Formats: sequence, structure tokens, C-alpha cells
Amino acid sequence: MRKGKLLYLDYFGSKQELVQHLITQQDNQCYLCMEPFTKGDPPTVDHIYPLSRGGTWAIDNLALAHRVCNQDKDSRVLQCVLQWSVSGQARNVRTV
Ligand SMILES: [Zn+2]
Repeated sequence: MRKGKLLYLDYFGSKQELVQHLITQQDNQCYLCMEPFTKGDPPTVDHIYPLSRGGTWAIDNLALAHRVCNQDKDSRVLQCVLQWSVSGQARNVRTV
């Protein structure tokens, strides 16, 4: 059941249409580093509030970021998650 929030698919027929809309709205700039998107560094759809932390596909939770910026943000969120998930465990995260 929905919680009243409209998901992007209520507005757009596909993810491609969403991306086109966001490119226009963001002036072709990454919302994290404010640099423009290029052919070699195209936009990816990012969840401003991550899905893993209760974020949704609602239109106001989506923004475009470079893949690198997106991953950078994700890893920062991941670090927070790891901090409390490893609290009882040994820190042998490194694998071969
Ligand atoms: Zn960026």
C-alpha cells in the first residue's frame, strides 16, 4: 500500500523519461558536486535518502549524480551502517 507519496512511475513512463526530466531540472549538473554531466561521465539516478535507510522511489527523493559521486556518498552511508553492525564483531572485513 502507498503512503501517499507519488512514485516516479506515476509521472513518467520509464526511467529514461525520469532521467530526461531531472537533467532539465538540474540544469545538467550533478547534485553532489555541481559539475556538468558529460558523455564519458553520464548521470545516474541517486536516492537522496537511501533505500537502505527507508528512502523511496518518490520523485522528490530522486536526483541525478555522477556514478563516482553516487558511490562516494553510498560508501559514506555504508561506513555509518558498518559502524554499528560490526560493534560486536571482529573487524576482519578484509578478504582474499
Ligand atoms: Zn558529481
